[in-house]
Amino acid sequence: MSTERTFAIIKPDAYKSGYTGRILARIEQEGFTIRAMRLTYLSKREAEGFYAVHRERPFFGGLTDFMSSGPCVVLALEAPDAIKKWRALMGATDPAKAEAGTLRKEFGASIGENATHGSDAPETAAFELGYFFRGMEL
Ligand code: GDP
Repeated sequence: MSTERTFAIIKPDAYKSGYTGRILARIEQEGFTIRAMRLTYLSKREAEGFYAVHRERPFFGGLTDFMSSGPCVVLALEAPDAIKKWRALMGATDPAKAEAGTLRKEFGASIGENATHGSDAPETAAFELGYFFRGMEL
């Protein structure tokens, strides 16, 4: 397993509920190195650009409204096998189906408001890291 970077978001629901510190603690406890981190507040257009692959999906409007509804924390995380490792720590998209001990189980409220985001493949990680961070910040 080679060291890899992935892109993560502490979504507006988790930020608003005051879970940022607990999620960051889990990130460190699980062995990720935080390579870059920023508090940001996406515009609707920025959220649409980020989730462009989902633009035909019925939930696209609701998803981008939610992601632009308040501040969120964007992160570049590094670890061996970081993409899979972070998705395992997040758990299933729907918190009701997520395993015990995962972030979405603990902090997610619904399939729409599910606390965290994580890249699903090396190509998406490269796009998503580049969408939010300049080379100098990484
Ligand atoms: P992820 O990779 O686990 O985040 O899931 P997807 O890439 O399939 O979907 C992206 C995001 O869209 C999810 O994290 C959810 O916030 C949202 N989403 C996915 N499916 C649904 C759905 O059926 N309804 C709603 N409201 N949101 C959804």
